[in-house]
Amino acid sequence: MNKDFDRLESIVSEKRVKIHTFEPSQRKIWTVVGKGEEYWIDPENNFCSCPGFYFGVINGKKTCYHLESAKLAQSQNQTEEIIFSDEEFSDFVSGLISDL
Ligand SMILES: [Zn+2]
Repeated sequence: MNKDFDRLESIVSEKRVKIHTFEPSQRKIWTVVGKGEEYWIDPENNFCSCPGFYFGVINGKKTCYHLESAKLAQSQNQTEEIIFSDEEFSDFVSGLISDL
């Protein structure tokens, strides 16, 4: 249990929870950088693009450590915010999807 918490803490303290904000629309995309991969998460809709989340849902689990670290980062105000312009939105999303 403690080991899991350490993992969340290190993701948060290393600022690996990122909010990509697109302006002027203020659309937001959250990602969490794991071991080499970057996963797309949606804390409001409780979604993560990682395989652990996918298989967890099949087994009745509703979260994964990316979502948990995002919630922790949010509560500690430790998210990394990156500003993009709306013109970059579709390229950004297709880049994320092609990594999946
Ligand atoms: Zn995940």
